[in-house]
Amino acid sequence: MNKIQKFQAVRGMKDLLPQDHDYFTIVKKAIRHRCRQAGFKRITTPLLEQIEVFERGLGNATDIIEKEMFVLEDRSNNKLALRPEITAGIMRAYLQNGLFNLSQPVQLYAIDPCFRYDRPQKGRYRQFWQLSVEVIGARDPSIDAQVILLAQKILEDLKINDHFTLQINTIGTPECRQKFEEALENHFIGKERNLCEDCQRRLHKNPLRILDCKNEDCQILSSIAPKFDSFLDDQSKQFYEKVLGFLEELKIPYQENKKLVRGLDYYCDTVFEFWDKSTGSQNAIGGGGRYDGLGEVLGSSFNIPSVGFAAGIERIIDHLKEADIKPPRKDKLHIFVACLGDIAKKKAVKILADLHDSGVHALGAMGKSSINAQLKMANKFEADWTLILGEVEVQENVIIIRDMKKGSQEKYPLEKAVKEIISKIGKNNLDLYHLGE
Ligand code: AMP
Repeated sequence: MNKIQKFQAVRGMKDLLPQDHDYFTIVKKAIRHRCRQAGFKRITTPLLEQIEVFERGLGNATDIIEKEMFVLEDRSNNKLALRPEITAGIMRAYLQNGLFNLSQPVQLYAIDPCFRYDRPQKGRYRQFWQLSVEVIGARDPSIDAQVILLAQKILEDLKINDHFTLQINTIGTPECRQKFEEALENHFIGKERNLCEDCQRRLHKNPLRILDCKNEDCQILSSIAPKFDSFLDDQSKQFYEKVLGFLEELKIPYQENKKLVRGLDYYCDTVFEFWDKSTGSQNAIGGGGRYDGLGEVLGSSFNIPSVGFAAGIERIIDHLKEADIKPPRKDKLHIFVACLGDIAKKKAVKILADLHDSGVHALGAMGKSSINAQLKMANKFEADWTLILGEVEVQENVIIIRDMKKGSQEKYPLEKAVKEIISKIGKNNLDLYHLGE
């Protein structure tokens, strides 16, 4: 006997079912609103990029590049990667499409799936959705603060802002960071035995990452490591102070966190994360920072100062559910159309089409079962009213409208059915689309 194979979604990748989309919709709306208000425009880059876009952009010694990328080869042996984050692809698009010829800065946002070969657990998936917000082509501490404000406003609109604390730090210029990294390397050399496996690897490649390792021994060694403050040049300090000044002006509470480094090569100066008040750095909802060097790393002949942030949509939704915030149901069914016999079904199909054209949510005119069985179906679909059209009604040119909650029903002339339904639903509740809306 043939065994029926049941397929499962790929590990760590979830189906977004209709009830998930209800939440996605409100998150996307909050994002679009705030982004539009602040002059951002939407961009979508391809899922796949040449692997070098990420290797160069994020840096070879990062967890994402070392262990988390989904890599594939096309039929011409080009090495491609599913995007693990959105910023590097947007910078590639900015350069490729000559967006540097527009007025600067170019303000872009994206809401798209990303892929990381991480260990799946709550809030951590192999396919997940990110919001990415980028201000490309300008350097001003006020922009860093405005980007942070935008992130906070989205969380405020979704009524979950009080779940998070804003952690902020500066990692200065690449030059002062290099000096700091040398000092860190010297500090940890000779203490390798006490570092976790990952940090032993990071030691000579990306010692900064040791500072935000969660391992207890690494944390103890980090607490007595040299501090970045003594390596920060005056310009970086002033830039950072100004960012904090703007945050204060905007009344955005923050916690300075000297250990926050964000790990990716492309960051400089401001780095920040929104930490869950109950779990800390474990399940940050989002983070970002300045990335002035990324453009040049990706082939630009001139510097392209930029700043941005990314947030995880699934984690935002987890917080909405935790806060018991219910998304509105926009797809509630108004009408089920029940019919008996072929002639009635023909009329029912036409009524359904007319209802749809009028902005009514309606389905039915299917199957061969009795009217009673169809009423049960209507109940299961949670329709407010059922239109009933049997052979007798067709002959009399009438239709029955049944109120499913009250269980009462009335007869109407067939040609008045749609008008009657519209008046029951109310014109304001109709679902109509006009091009150009
Ligand atoms: P990152 O740039 O790595 O800090 O990612 C930005 C945000 O994306 C994080 O704060 C999370 O909200 C989200 N995120 C990152 N990785 C995952 C993942 N594997 N699953 C779900 N969300 C993620």
